[in-house]
Amino acid sequence: MIPGEPHFAGVLGWPLERTLSPAIHAAAFESVGLPWVYLAWAVPPESLASAVEGLRVLRASGANVTMPHKEAILPLLDDLDEDARAVGAVNTVASGGGRLIGHNTDVSGFKEFLAGDAGATISGARCVVLGAGGAARAVVKALSELDAEVISVVARDAHKAASVAAIAGARGRAEPWTANIWAVADADVVVNATPLGMNKEKLLEGARFDAGQWVVDLIYDPPSTPLIDSARSQGAHAWGGIGMLVHQAAGSFRIWTGQEPPLPAMSAAAVTAIAGRSRD
Ligand code: NAP
Repeated sequence: MIPGEPHFAGVLGWPLERTLSPAIHAAAFESVGLPWVYLAWAVPPESLASAVEGLRVLRASGANVTMPHKEAILPLLDDLDEDARAVGAVNTVASGGGRLIGHNTDVSGFKEFLAGDAGATISGARCVVLGAGGAARAVVKALSELDAEVISVVARDAHKAASVAAIAGARGRAEPWTANIWAVADADVVVNATPLGMNKEKLLEGARFDAGQWVVDLIYDPPSTPLIDSARSQGAHAWGGIGMLVHQAAGSFRIWTGQEPPLPAMSAAAVTAIAGRSRD
């Protein structure tokens, strides 16, 4: 990097129309006065290797990685942090000394949101995670690190459910999708890590929630879903996915810059970007 030149980073994904990362990171850099440029790189799967080589050659300071590249990028990097290795997915790349290191800030992002913003106590908690994709893997790792007692992964694909539950070791359980209502009945924490609810689909219809439960829907657009509405109307602590979204971005910011992220500016940018979309 030539002294005085702005650093640049960006997000690699395909397609990229719905990414909120440029809005969140631009707000963060502006808020702390860092002259960084953050770009949206729409890269089809067959061009991912060239794009990663481009990060090296052009000396990008870092990158975010989103669908469908989070797993495919693993063998293209020089090393992985512990969370990326455990989850088998990368959402953040840091560049240093000519090496590209893969991180997974979805894990720390979910932890910071749940134990911090939401104020949930996870130690000894019985947790249910719906879905067995990339987000579920990060959530299970986070709940495990927060010392949950039992983590049940409820998914329609038994093999995927077992593989995600295995991240939690002896605390992990795999349950069939058909058991989802019973599984949440005596759970302390329920996390939706499926896309069900994005288009107002009803999830866990008929489930009873109470004031002792935390319900988190990872969907952030729309900001509320039928699951959140139902859990909240029954007195449960219910949260959408914006908190995790902002905290995972904050984790990337911390890794790239070594500075504390400006969370209020990042959160405001996310909320504004989502509100702007729903008026479209
Ligand atoms: P993914 O890898 O595609 O996994 C989706 C999971 O949902 C899979 O287990 C899938 O089952 C299951 N699923 C999909 N449709 C279903 C249905 N009709 N019935 C039952 N299960 C169904 O996606 P992901 O990356 O994990 O993301 C999941 C959700 O989390 C998305 O809504 C995403 O926007 C959100 N997310 C939020 C954040 C945040 O920061 N807030 C971060 C990451 C993801 P099959 O495998 O059987 O298809």
